[in-house]
Amino acid sequence: MNEQARIPRATAKRLPIYYRYLTFLEDAGTNRISSAELAEATKFDAATIRRDFSYFGALGKRGYGYDVKALLSFFAKVLDQSSLINVALIGVGHLGHALLNFNFHQSSNMRIAAAFDINEHRGKILSGVPIYDMSELEEQIKAQRINIAILTVPQEEAQEITDRLVSAGIKGIMNFTPLRVSVPDGVRVQNVDLTNELQTLVYFIQNYASITTGK
Ligand code: ATP
Repeated sequence: MNEQARIPRATAKRLPIYYRYLTFLEDAGTNRISSAELAEATKFDAATIRRDFSYFGALGKRGYGYDVKALLSFFAKVLDQSSLINVALIGVGHLGHALLNFNFHQSSNMRIAAAFDINEHRGKILSGVPIYDMSELEEQIKAQRINIAILTVPQEEAQEITDRLVSAGIKGIMNFTPLRVSVPDGVRVQNVDLTNELQTLVYFIQNYASITTGK
């Protein structure tokens, strides 16, 4: 949809956080919210929120605020029709953290929209990305139209999580664990083994450096 293509990058980056709070509100049975209340919850200022929502054609009514369900269905439409690619990150350890910080900033249409972990970070927002509990994995992947996942969990957990990702509909996995995970046909795994890469480099330096430098 052309209209969505015009959503500014900064606005698009705030979408996952809006989405997170709106699903909270919906789960709690809240039907409407003012931009001031959303500002309090998200720490974005109310004017920014009003401007962001106006890009979506969602105009709050004075004295009423925004309709939570209407906003949520609007976001679902944006995700379906825009060129934004939502990626999930599983495992917010050291590496996961670094990738959240990095968040593919050079790209205007790819970003980590949701991260998942089994402990302490749950419920937090890190580098603008909401961290969900693993129990919400399947639900969020479906709701946020995510079909790519980055795996930064301990290798012992990698296969079980991969199986869950595949049954939730994930089509591509960027695997940072050393385990070669098995996936069915139709799912693509890109292995990124940093230790292995470094070891390869060390090997070349140790075995060929003398030849290439001539010493
Ligand atoms: P790394 O440097 O490899 O990112 P780390 O040393 O910080 O990792 P790990 O033990 O490798 O920590 O775990 C990475 C992250 O994965 C941790 O935040 C951990 O809580 C999380 N994790 C562990 N098991 C699971 C699981 N089954 N599902 C989701 N997250 C998990």
